[in-house]
Amino acid sequence: MRVITDLSEVLKIKNNEKQLGFVPTMGYLHEGHLSIVKRAISENDETIVSIYVNPTQFGENEDLDNYPRSIESDLEKLEQAGVDYVYIPKSSEIYPEGFATNIIMPELTKDLCGISRPTHFNGVCIIVLKLCNIIKPNNLYLGKKDYQQLLIIQQLFKDLNVQIKVTGCEIVRDNEGLALSSRNKYLNPEELEVARKLNKILKNEAQLITKDWQNLSASEERIKMEISELGLKVDYVALRTERLRPVTTTICPSKVIILIAVYVGQARLLDNIEIEGE
Ligand code: AMP
Repeated sequence: MRVITDLSEVLKIKNNEKQLGFVPTMGYLHEGHLSIVKRAISENDETIVSIYVNPTQFGENEDLDNYPRSIESDLEKLEQAGVDYVYIPKSSEIYPEGFATNIIMPELTKDLCGISRPTHFNGVCIIVLKLCNIIKPNNLYLGKKDYQQLLIIQQLFKDLNVQIKVTGCEIVRDNEGLALSSRNKYLNPEELEVARKLNKILKNEAQLITKDWQNLSASEERIKMEISELGLKVDYVALRTERLRPVTTTICPSKVIILIAVYVGQARLLDNIEIEGE
């Protein structure tokens, strides 16, 4: 495995004879990341993973400085998984003096996570597009835990004719259903126990919806109430179509997704569940 920190070096790795898979991460790797990495390895001749805590996707009072980091053990995990390249960019090369671009996609980036994090997806779009332009992969792999992010990047690539296939990978959870996240590190044991109830609430609601599609409209409020009863602050609970449009009709859509963002102690945790229509 080659670890690259220089932009000039990573620009040279693309071999046109080989399919290259790319997995962008912010490090502090867990099994969720590694399952994406394994998928990329299984579908490509070569795989590259980036580790970069991207400052432009953090708001002013967010956790950029405290974001957990563990480069040594990340590299061990990636080596063991069989990754070919790891790119650890230098901020001076990603955001050199004079960097001036923003990426705006009004509807999708201002919704859901974009309401409490208005600049977040601008940063995400910049870093993903920039890393893809540098690395020139054939395939990009993202997790469905960040479902809105996945849709935004798919839209961005479609709109700008970026010739890279984007694959969304399934959410990996702990034994009790909690979606793995680097930010779970912020949770103390009591908070961890409460956080583990979030997915159970979503699963119960999914069952109710499957039994009675007519009752969709009551779901959001019911979930909000159940989360509040755990003593947690809800950022949002949203029932959407798979394209993240509001579910406006009582006619059963082909698929609905419930997305939540919840504050647990210092952490803001995301989860979602997809429910197939009838
Ligand atoms: P991050 O390091 O949090 O920026 O995540 C890097 C990639 O891993 C993103 O595409 C995330 O959606 C994905 N990811 C994070 N956690 C999980 C998880 N529990 N299951 C699947 N993918 C995940």
